[in-house]
Amino acid sequence: MKIIDNVFLVPGIVANPYILVDSDGLTIIDTGLPHSEKKILSYVARLGKSAHDVKRIVVTHSDLDHIGSLAALKKITGARTYASRIEADAIASGHPSRQIKSSGFSMMRLVFSLFRPFMKAAPFQVDEILTADLVMPVLGGLHVVDTAGHTPGHVSLFAPAAGILFSGDSLVTDENGIHGSRPGLTWDDAKARQAEQKQVALGAYIVCPGHGPVVFDAIGKFIV
Ligand SMILES: [Zn+2]
Repeated sequence: MKIIDNVFLVPGIVANPYILVDSDGLTIIDTGLPHSEKKILSYVARLGKSAHDVKRIVVTHSDLDHIGSLAALKKITGARTYASRIEADAIASGHPSRQIKSSGFSMMRLVFSLFRPFMKAAPFQVDEILTADLVMPVLGGLHVVDTAGHTPGHVSLFAPAAGILFSGDSLVTDENGIHGSRPGLTWDDAKARQAEQKQVALGAYIVCPGHGPVVFDAIGKFIV
Protein backbone atom coordinates (compact mmCIF):
# COMPACT_ATOMS: atom_id res chain seq x y z
CA MET A 1 0.00 0.00 0.00
CA LYS A 2 1.40 3.35 -1.05
CA ILE A 3 1.32 5.89 1.80
CA ILE A 4 3.18 8.70 0.07
CA ASP A 5 5.32 8.68 -3.08
CA ASN A 6 8.32 6.98 -1.46
CA VAL A 7 6.80 5.18 1.54
CA PHE A 8 4.92 1.87 1.38
CA LEU A 9 3.26 -0.49 3.86
CA VAL A 10 3.62 -4.20 3.13
CA PRO A 11 0.09 -5.51 3.81
CA GLY A 12 -0.91 -8.75 5.49
CA ILE A 13 1.98 -9.02 7.96
CA VAL A 14 2.05 -8.83 11.78
CA ALA A 15 3.47 -6.30 12.69
CA ASN A 16 3.37 -3.69 9.89
CA PRO A 17 6.63 -3.47 7.92
CA TYR A 18 7.30 -0.25 5.98
CA ILE A 19 9.51 0.27 2.93
CA LEU A 20 11.10 3.67 2.37
CA VAL A 21 12.52 4.44 -1.06
CA ASP A 22 15.47 6.78 -1.52
CA SER A 23 17.77 7.30 -4.50
CA ASP A 24 20.55 5.29 -2.80
CA GLY A 25 18.32 2.34 -1.96
CA LEU A 26 15.57 1.04 0.29
CA THR A 27 15.09 1.12 4.05
CA ILE A 28 12.80 -1.36 5.80
CA ILE A 29 11.30 -0.47 9.18
CA ASP A 30 10.32 -3.57 11.21
CA THR A 31 10.25 -7.06 9.76
CA GLY A 32 7.12 -8.86 11.01
CA LEU A 33 6.86 -12.34 12.49
CA PRO A 34 9.22 -15.10 11.31
CA HIS A 35 8.74 -16.17 7.68
CA SER A 36 7.54 -12.73 6.55
CA GLU A 37 10.63 -12.16 4.39
CA LYS A 38 9.11 -13.61 1.21
CA LYS A 39 6.10 -11.28 1.39
CA ILE A 40 8.32 -8.28 2.11
CA LEU A 41 10.69 -9.06 -0.75
CA SER A 42 7.90 -9.74 -3.22
CA TYR A 43 6.61 -6.26 -2.36
CA VAL A 44 10.13 -4.93 -3.01
CA ALA A 45 9.97 -6.64 -6.42
CA ARG A 46 6.59 -5.02 -7.11
CA LEU A 47 8.33 -1.67 -6.62
CA GLY A 48 10.73 -2.66 -9.43
CA LYS A 49 13.59 -3.19 -6.99
CA SER A 50 15.65 -6.19 -5.97
CA ALA A 51 16.74 -7.59 -2.61
CA HIS A 52 20.14 -5.99 -3.09
CA ASP A 53 18.53 -2.56 -3.28
CA VAL A 54 17.62 -2.92 0.42
CA LYS A 55 20.36 -0.96 2.20
CA ARG A 56 19.04 -0.61 5.75
CA ILE A 57 16.75 -2.57 8.07
CA VAL A 58 15.68 -0.71 11.20
CA VAL A 59 13.74 -2.26 14.07
CA THR A 60 11.79 -0.17 16.58
CA HIS A 61 12.12 -2.78 19.33
CA SER A 62 12.91 -6.44 19.89
CA ASP A 63 9.45 -8.05 20.18
CA LEU A 64 9.18 -11.06 17.91
CA ASP A 65 6.53 -9.55 15.64
CA HIS A 66 9.02 -6.78 14.74
CA ILE A 67 12.29 -8.73 14.50
CA GLY A 68 10.93 -12.12 13.38
CA SER A 69 12.26 -11.85 9.83
CA LEU A 70 15.28 -9.65 10.56
CA ALA A 71 17.92 -12.39 10.31
CA ALA A 72 16.39 -13.86 7.15
CA LEU A 73 16.19 -10.43 5.48
CA LYS A 74 19.77 -9.64 6.47
CA LYS A 75 20.94 -12.90 4.94
CA ILE A 76 19.14 -12.34 1.64
CA THR A 77 19.72 -8.59 1.22
CA GLY A 78 23.05 -7.96 2.92
CA ALA A 79 21.53 -4.72 4.29
CA ARG A 80 22.92 -2.96 7.39
CA THR A 81 20.73 -3.65 10.42
CA TYR A 82 19.89 -1.13 13.17
CA ALA A 83 18.42 -1.16 16.69
CA SER A 84 18.87 0.78 19.93
CA ARG A 85 21.50 -0.49 22.40
CA ILE A 86 18.99 -2.08 24.79
CA GLU A 87 16.98 -3.73 22.03
CA ALA A 88 20.14 -4.82 20.18
CA ASP A 89 21.36 -6.54 23.35
CA ALA A 90 18.00 -8.29 23.69
CA ILE A 91 18.09 -9.40 20.04
CA ALA A 92 21.65 -10.69 20.55
CA SER A 93 20.60 -12.64 23.63
CA GLY A 94 17.47 -14.10 22.07
CA HIS A 95 15.39 -12.91 25.05
CA PRO A 96 12.75 -10.15 25.38
CA SER A 97 14.04 -6.72 26.39
CA ARG A 98 11.54 -6.36 29.23
CA GLN A 99 9.48 -7.89 31.93
CA ILE A 100 6.01 -6.41 32.12
CA LYS A 101 5.88 -4.02 35.09
CA SER A 102 2.26 -2.91 34.59
CA SER A 103 0.00 -3.91 37.43
CA GLY A 104 -3.44 -5.49 37.28
CA PHE A 105 -4.98 -8.16 35.13
CA SER A 106 -5.08 -7.81 31.41
CA MET A 107 -5.94 -10.34 28.76
CA MET A 108 -3.03 -9.10 26.64
CA ARG A 109 -0.67 -9.68 29.53
CA LEU A 110 -2.00 -13.17 30.08
CA VAL A 111 -1.65 -14.02 26.40
CA PHE A 112 1.85 -12.53 26.39
CA SER A 113 2.95 -14.66 29.34
CA LEU A 114 1.40 -17.83 27.89
CA PHE A 115 3.06 -17.37 24.52
CA ARG A 116 6.36 -15.97 25.78
CA PRO A 117 8.19 -19.31 25.46
CA PHE A 118 7.23 -19.39 21.77
CA MET A 119 8.00 -15.72 21.16
CA LYS A 120 11.73 -16.03 20.82
CA ALA A 121 13.88 -15.48 17.79
CA ALA A 122 17.31 -17.02 17.36
CA PRO A 123 20.00 -14.66 18.70
CA PHE A 124 21.09 -12.10 16.10
CA GLN A 125 23.69 -9.35 16.17
CA VAL A 126 22.64 -6.06 14.56
CA ASP A 127 25.29 -4.02 12.73
CA GLU A 128 24.59 -0.53 14.05
CA ILE A 129 23.30 1.00 17.27
CA LEU A 130 20.64 3.70 17.04
CA THR A 131 21.09 6.54 19.51
CA ALA A 132 18.43 9.11 20.39
CA ASP A 133 18.46 12.10 18.04
CA LEU A 134 20.56 10.34 15.41
CA VAL A 135 19.43 11.42 11.94
CA MET A 136 19.61 8.76 9.24
CA PRO A 137 20.05 9.79 5.58
CA VAL A 138 16.56 8.56 4.69
CA LEU A 139 13.49 10.54 3.48
CA GLY A 140 15.48 13.77 3.75
CA GLY A 141 16.42 13.05 7.38
CA LEU A 142 14.95 10.28 9.50
CA HIS A 143 15.22 11.19 13.19
CA VAL A 144 15.57 8.52 15.86
CA VAL A 145 13.20 9.36 18.72
CA ASP A 146 13.63 7.71 22.12
CA THR A 147 10.16 6.32 22.89
CA ALA A 148 11.03 3.97 25.75
CA GLY A 149 7.96 2.71 27.60
CA HIS A 150 6.50 -0.14 25.55
CA THR A 151 9.97 -1.65 25.90
CA PRO A 152 13.04 -0.11 27.60
CA GLY A 153 14.86 0.69 24.36
CA HIS A 154 11.93 1.38 22.03
CA VAL A 155 12.57 3.98 19.31
CA SER A 156 10.32 5.69 16.78
CA LEU A 157 11.47 7.20 13.51
CA PHE A 158 10.31 10.63 12.38
CA ALA A 159 10.85 12.27 8.99
CA PRO A 160 9.96 15.96 9.43
CA ALA A 161 10.27 16.75 5.72
CA ALA A 162 7.48 14.31 4.94
CA GLY A 163 5.66 14.82 8.27
CA ILE A 164 5.61 11.06 8.76
CA LEU A 165 6.14 9.15 12.00
CA PHE A 166 6.89 5.44 12.33
CA SER A 167 5.85 4.68 15.88
CA GLY A 168 6.38 0.95 16.30
CA ASP A 169 4.26 -0.08 19.31
CA SER A 170 4.69 3.21 21.20
CA LEU A 171 1.51 4.29 19.40
CA VAL A 172 -1.10 1.94 17.98
CA THR A 173 -4.14 2.87 15.91
CA ASP A 174 -7.68 1.77 15.21
CA GLU A 175 -10.72 3.27 13.53
CA ASN A 176 -11.12 5.71 16.45
CA GLY A 177 -7.66 7.21 16.25
CA ILE A 178 -4.20 6.95 17.74
CA HIS A 179 -3.63 5.33 21.14
CA GLY A 180 -0.63 4.76 23.37
CA SER A 181 1.21 1.50 23.99
CA ARG A 182 -1.20 -1.30 24.95
CA PRO A 183 -1.23 -1.40 28.77
CA GLY A 184 -0.90 -5.17 29.16
CA LEU A 185 2.21 -5.20 26.98
CA THR A 186 3.86 -2.08 28.36
CA TRP A 187 7.14 -2.26 30.26
CA ASP A 188 6.70 1.07 32.05
CA ASP A 189 3.37 2.92 31.96
CA ALA A 190 4.75 6.32 33.04
CA LYS A 191 7.50 6.25 30.46
CA ALA A 192 5.02 5.11 27.83
CA ARG A 193 2.82 8.17 28.59
CA GLN A 194 5.88 10.43 28.21
CA ALA A 195 6.68 8.80 24.88
CA GLU A 196 3.12 9.39 23.70
CA GLN A 197 3.20 13.08 24.66
CA LYS A 198 6.60 13.51 23.02
CA GLN A 199 5.18 12.11 19.79
CA VAL A 200 2.03 14.24 19.89
CA ALA A 201 4.36 17.25 20.08
CA LEU A 202 6.21 16.22 16.90
CA GLY A 203 3.19 17.33 14.88
CA ALA A 204 3.33 14.46 12.39
CA TYR A 205 0.69 14.50 9.64
CA ILE A 206 0.91 10.75 9.08
CA VAL A 207 1.32 8.10 11.77
CA CYS A 208 2.51 4.66 10.68
CA PRO A 209 2.05 2.29 13.64
CA GLY A 210 3.26 -1.25 14.24
CA HIS A 211 -0.37 -2.35 14.64
CA GLY A 212 -3.49 -0.82 13.13
CA PRO A 213 -4.12 1.31 10.07
CA VAL A 214 -1.93 4.19 8.91
CA VAL A 215 -3.54 7.44 10.11
CA PHE A 216 -3.53 10.47 7.82
CA ASP A 217 -4.28 14.00 9.09
CA ALA A 218 -3.01 12.66 12.39
CA ILE A 219 -3.09 15.94 14.30
CA GLY A 220 -6.26 15.86 16.40
CA LYS A 221 -6.58 12.09 16.20
CA PHE A 222 -4.46 11.34 19.25
CA ILE A 223 -6.39 9.68 22.08
CA VAL A 224 -3.54 9.59 24.57
ZN1 LIG B 1 4.17 -5.38 17.98
